[in-house]
Amino acid sequence: MYDAKVRGKNRYSICTSDMREDMQRRMVLTNSLLRALERDELRVFYQPQIDTATRGIVGYEALLRWENPDLGLLPPGMFIPLAEQTGLIRPIGEWVLRTACRQNRLWIDRGLPPRRMSVNLSVEQLRDRHLSDQIRSVLSETGMDARLLQLEITETAAIQADEPVVQMLSEIKKLGISISLDDFGVDYSSLSRLRELPIDHIKIDMRFVRGIEAGSKDEAIARTIIQLARNLGLQVLAEGVEHMHQYRFFARERCDEIQGFLFYKPMPPAQLEALL
Ligand code: C2E
Ligand code: MG
Ligand code: MG
Repeated sequence: MYDAKVRGKNRYSICTSDMREDMQRRMVLTNSLLRALERDELRVFYQPQIDTATRGIVGYEALLRWENPDLGLLPPGMFIPLAEQTGLIRPIGEWVLRTACRQNRLWIDRGLPPRRMSVNLSVEQLRDRHLSDQIRSVLSETGMDARLLQLEITETAAIQADEPVVQMLSEIKKLGISISLDDFGVDYSSLSRLRELPIDHIKIDMRFVRGIEAGSKDEAIARTIIQLARNLGLQVLAEGVEHMHQYRFFARERCDEIQGFLFYKPMPPAQLEALL
């Protein structure tokens, strides 16, 4: 039924053995994801974000990984959609937030310079009425400075955000937390939403970054997003910078920040700490 719906509804689909296997795989994964939290199999990796002008680290993005005993280290793309469908994203999201805040506080306590910590929020978390209370208690529990916390919401989530969600975001912002619009430019980017949403920061999606070369359309789009952010008084970051010519482009266009494999990959906290 879902297969028929995904293919445009009002049609039928024949269940194949491939589909059955896929379903079984998802069921097994859902069951073990349920226990991953309890068994302490989730990990947070951190990827530095760079000031384009100075090349100094301005912050880190917390990125979830699952150390699955059978399948190895799994990237979030393989299990976050499942977690969202099953409601598991709420406890998992809270765990990521607490872990990242605790880590940030720990680094500061060890004498490292205070830097921003960005945590991804799923649209399911935004729909949770208790989210701002949850964030408040994580902040007080971990001793994290709210001004160092940034929450990333995807453009898709932002477009879906109804009035209660916008209000919740404003409430969160009042705590001193900044809000970033992730994967900007991918979906249909609603300019009126940009005006209404309480955001501080935009992340240009890596799809545009990949196509950066002289005279390309992606270059024109990236340039336009940077200009748009500047005119709205927002900070702007380019995501997925892998090559020097891409970095040079964003430096020339005075994009505030960049993040990408050219400088750093996401890494476990101990590795980042050694590097810092
Ligand atoms: P995102 O928030 O847009 O995160 C950036 C993704 O781009 C990360 O993938 C990162 O490893 C990857 N990346 C960074 N620089 C480069 C580069 O130069 N080249 C390439 N090819 N990739 C680069 P990752 O860690 O696999 O995460 C994928 C997505 O999963 C994230 O996209 C985010 O939407 C979601 N995600 C990750 N952690 C969490 C979490 O704790 N909660 C929620 N709700 N979603 C999360
Ligand atoms: Mg992100
Ligand atoms: Mg992104």
